[in-house]
Amino acid sequence: APPLDVARLRADFPILAREVNGKPLVYLDNAATSQKPRCVIDAQAHYYAQLNANVHRGVHRLSQEATDAFEATRDTVQRFVNAARREEIVFVRGTTEAINLVANSFGGRFRPGDEILITAMEHHSNIVPWQLACERSGAVLKVAPVNDEGELLVAEFERLLGNRTRIVALAHVSNALGTINPVRELIDMAHARGVPVLLDGAQAVPHVAVDVQALDCDFYAFSAHKLYGPTGIGVLYGKAALLDAMPPWQGGGDMIRQVSFAGTTYNELPYKFEAGTPDIAGAVALGAAIRYVEATGIAAIAAHEHALLEHATRQARAMPGLRLVGTARNKAAILSFVFDDIHAHDVGTILDHEGVAVRTGHHCAMPLMERFGVPATVRASFAMYNTHDEVDALFAALRRVREVFDG
Ligand code: PMP
Repeated sequence: APPLDVARLRADFPILAREVNGKPLVYLDNAATSQKPRCVIDAQAHYYAQLNANVHRGVHRLSQEATDAFEATRDTVQRFVNAARREEIVFVRGTTEAINLVANSFGGRFRPGDEILITAMEHHSNIVPWQLACERSGAVLKVAPVNDEGELLVAEFERLLGNRTRIVALAHVSNALGTINPVRELIDMAHARGVPVLLDGAQAVPHVAVDVQALDCDFYAFSAHKLYGPTGIGVLYGKAALLDAMPPWQGGGDMIRQVSFAGTTYNELPYKFEAGTPDIAGAVALGAAIRYVEATGIAAIAAHEHALLEHATRQARAMPGLRLVGTARNKAAILSFVFDDIHAHDVGTILDHEGVAVRTGHHCAMPLMERFGVPATVRASFAMYNTHDEVDALFAALRRVREVFDG
């Protein structure tokens, strides 16, 4: 892919012109949420200014236009993840809601002693819904371990796939470490035993090309807001045969075919899983975000971010007292680290003073922090619009942190 014209990209993101504490904003918290290009902000505003009406209901013109705009994004998402059928794309609030939907609806078939297999590097949103499903059903949660580099121990994973395993749920890319899991291989292992696989793609879709048919995953979850889109909307992809066989999760308007007090029948896919008025404006803006990413080119984005990660990793390795957490061979856009003598929150506070935004804390992955024996890490995470100069600004600010603490 030809290199990105990052200066041109940056001009599309109004917030990047901001100053913070009198310094130019260096936004390196993209794994928490990414910034939005003007076209996404405009799409949301245009929806409310010109199209706003409820969807799937009215015969009137605006309702039809709103429905068309909403449903057009379903086609855009279908193309983006290469789903076989548009009804396999379910709009939800985000990754968290997508996983809860599967854990509740698919999880309705779990029986005492059944097993759910996850990994030690999951976000809380891919742990807690399964723990709740275990509480409801008597199923048991199994956890595949990781090595000191933050890579999944694939042989252990395979060993934990048993004849009671009912589903595997794992991150495509780890939000705390950046590890890219060998999901194709893991899915093959699970399928060889007849076990369906849910991928948490929250940290993958902004950085790697996703083809759900090539992966052959059964479910794929992601949030718009980490993909340059708005908050409040995300996607659950599910294979039609699986979704069809699953009961609805939430009940309400739009998800029904016929309601009577004697009993209710449900709408077809995907509407069976879309109860209530959806985030119509959010969906429309997600469509704009995906088109922006596609026009920029995911391969070019990945190459650029990889160069930033290498540039950052080299400087991190050269910095006294800094310890990287997560050194997998296959990583995306995330640099997580600690200073053994300075708390991550103190690092984050001084970085903020220098205009550098990073995330500090447990990254909603407390069991993973425990695995690495740290309460928290500092996490710098990159997006298409970050520059080598910004990486250098991060390390200049980190040298400032050392000065403050070394006196
Ligand atoms: N999984 C991963 C790997 C994540 O990084 C996140 C967001 N930090 C989530 C799930 C949850 O996403 P959301 O809060 O948008 O539902």
